[in-house]
Amino acid sequence: MAEHLIVVMLIDGVSEHYFHKNRHKLPHLDHLARRGTLVNALSPEICGTSLPGRSAILTGVDSSRHGVYGNQLFDPSQGRFRNAHPDDLRVPTVLARAKQAGRQVAAVGFGMAHPRDTQVYIGPWWARDMIRGRHDEMDRHDTIWEQAAGIVDPKNYLAELTALGLDTEFVQVPSDEPGHLIRGTLADQQVVDLVAGLGCSTRRPDLIIAEIGMPDHALHTFGYDSPEAEWSVRLADAQIGTLMMRLREHAVPTNLVILSDHGHMDMQHAINVTALTDLPHSCEGQTILIGNTDPAAMIRVDHALRELHCERWPDHVLPIDAQGSVRLYVAPEGYSFENCADSSQIVVSPSALSTHGLRPGHPRDHRLCLLAGPDIPTGQINASQPGQVTATIAHLLGIDNPLHAFANPLL
Ligand SMILES: [Zn+2]
Repeated sequence: MAEHLIVVMLIDGVSEHYFHKNRHKLPHLDHLARRGTLVNALSPEICGTSLPGRSAILTGVDSSRHGVYGNQLFDPSQGRFRNAHPDDLRVPTVLARAKQAGRQVAAVGFGMAHPRDTQVYIGPWWARDMIRGRHDEMDRHDTIWEQAAGIVDPKNYLAELTALGLDTEFVQVPSDEPGHLIRGTLADQQVVDLVAGLGCSTRRPDLIIAEIGMPDHALHTFGYDSPEAEWSVRLADAQIGTLMMRLREHAVPTNLVILSDHGHMDMQHAINVTALTDLPHSCEGQTILIGNTDPAAMIRVDHALRELHCERWPDHVLPIDAQGSVRLYVAPEGYSFENCADSSQIVVSPSALSTHGLRPGHPRDHRLCLLAGPDIPTGQINASQPGQVTATIAHLLGIDNPLHAFANPLL
């Protein structure tokens, strides 16, 4: 067992900018930032969306190496995009390395964690909703997510929590409002309760990785500067507060790593891709991935996107086998990509008022990242590479940094 518990808590979509803008309303995160190390200017990997972000945190390498270059990946055999999932990761995760080194690993609702890399695994509450939202019919890849949405606990770590009256099954979160907002927030609270329960249990793991998901949803739905987004991030702050209180009550010395997967920014317009092309594509916010299944159609859409001041991003950010079959474009400032089937207009009002997948390197894409605990000094540092967070988790666990070729620990 590592001397101190390590909790990695992702808060989806909260940028460094958002944290600083609202820091005076986020007492628990503010307290941790004052006591620990605040990491500045931490960029996401390309593209800056949720599943690539989690994959980079887990592996410490970029999408050209870990393979998850979008929330959806192009499947050449089906000629369409499908959900990325944990089996798509091509390199070992820090969870797998930790387990191999004899550490106890728990994943609580963390997307892209693989059950086999943990001793106790509770899948993300949003996984089933994501599958339902994307396709009319399930395919093999959706089945993998369906399995990843379950609980894998062969050594009965959760029995102790159940005996205390904790519910290990997340509440079902519907996709329509207000059920999504209320039950999603409850599911996030369940994540925090389970993290606290495991952290305070007699068989506490060495590493617990988890996520709070609702801030991203509130930012998308209500906009970056909306009161609803602020309430959602304040609730996440309060949830972090309850976690800290529980761990303190049980005198569990904990190194906390709190971070986001990408930034967020308001969009004024959306490019309606349905009106532009029939080619398979995945709208990832301000970024789009297009499957190059028809060279003539690809030339037409390339021309149309350039007319709209979109920029084709270099292929080297993609895994080598996707280069050529997939193209990545970035929309100009204030524009996102969406599918609006009931309009023939090329430029429409965005349904996601704020979004991710921002132009690589955009300062609004810098992520919230702070560390606090007995092994963390007080101060501020600048991150030079995203992989440094993963290297830091390995360092805190006292395991070999498998990423030394790519990134050094932050501390
Ligand atoms: Zn996200």
